[in-house]
Amino acid sequence: MHHRSKSKLAQAGRTLLISCSAVALMSWTPVSVDAQSGQQARRGGRGGEQQGPRVRNPRSTRRVLGDVPMTAADSVIQAVVERLDFDSYKNILKGLTEFGDREQGTQRNADAIDWIEAQLRGWGYETERIHYEYTPRRPEGSEPEPRQEVYATKVGSTTPGEMYILGAHMDGRGGGEAANDDGSGTALVMEIARVLASADIVSARTIRFALWNNEETGLNGARAYVEQRAPLQGIEDPPGSGEFPEPTWLGMIQHDMMMWDHGNPVTFNQALDADVDIEFQLNSAMAGESAQLALVLLNSNRLFATDYPAVMSNAMSNTDSGPFQDLVAAVSLRENRRLYETGNRANPHWHQPTDLFVTFSDDDFRLAFNAAQTTLGAIARLAGVHIR
Ligand SMILES: [Zn+2]
Repeated sequence: MHHRSKSKLAQAGRTLLISCSAVALMSWTPVSVDAQSGQQARRGGRGGEQQGPRVRNPRSTRRVLGDVPMTAADSVIQAVVERLDFDSYKNILKGLTEFGDREQGTQRNADAIDWIEAQLRGWGYETERIHYEYTPRRPEGSEPEPRQEVYATKVGSTTPGEMYILGAHMDGRGGGEAANDDGSGTALVMEIARVLASADIVSARTIRFALWNNEETGLNGARAYVEQRAPLQGIEDPPGSGEFPEPTWLGMIQHDMMMWDHGNPVTFNQALDADVDIEFQLNSAMAGESAQLALVLLNSNRLFATDYPAVMSNAMSNTDSGPFQDLVAAVSLRENRRLYETGNRANPHWHQPTDLFVTFSDDDFRLAFNAAQTTLGAIARLAGVHIR
């Protein structure tokens, strides 16, 4: 239901905007285009008559881009991004919310892990689980208890020993359905996994989909992953097999609370300036690399997101990318900046019984879907994804 004139510009050329230079990000070079797409670009550029259905959302990122034509490489990625399905995203999220808030340590949490794993396997992935111990905070003197979390991996076709990690936490709290925190991020990662599972989609590098547990108790699941698997990076096992149980990490992209940007004071609908917040941590060992990763996501949003723009800021906090931030480029995508907005009550449903599937409208689901478009476009570029 979106006006997709971008695809009509598929053959047009444009300067690749992958550089970290702000100047390069702002510049573009129009080159010869075929008559049809050139005409289309001029019409769009004037903001005048349009073919097909009207753009549903006046916040269309096309206006931010100024109808900069796509390169052929961009259009390959766009074809991948266009396989994301809004209804599929909502259905996965609905499935997750059937398990309530999925609080760690509960049967509904364990059942949700089984369900997530079944979906991933149903799409053709082999899955694995991290086993770790978590010591409950209450009651005092609690004994360590076993916990698990699941991940799936798309193995790289030419460079399997290098990997990007996409993450979200499947546990929640609050007694509702933890639909937004963090069913919304979990469903986002799963929908991307579903798209990339297609037999005709190839990724040069490896991509891992990690659905963390125990985020709400202090990032314990992501910390366990880092502790157990950081030392295994890049080791071919068995030697000469071409198999890397833990490929070398190139970047980690976390998704946590994706749907609600209703301003503050909070309004009924998405705010007019609703956006995807891409955060990195300036006070981290990999701040420069993380900022570059954030720029790739920012650029992907301008090219491939259909409704909401993205902005970048530097105070990533309180999410599962934290344990990675001193080891590898690490960013998080959210509905709001965690410290300055979420931390100031920008989302009244946060950790509340009202964090339910029915609380959210299609405009809310659509913000998360735009984050999915943003991440898939970036990961396709970075990992070398193409359709066979
Ligand atoms: Zn969360």
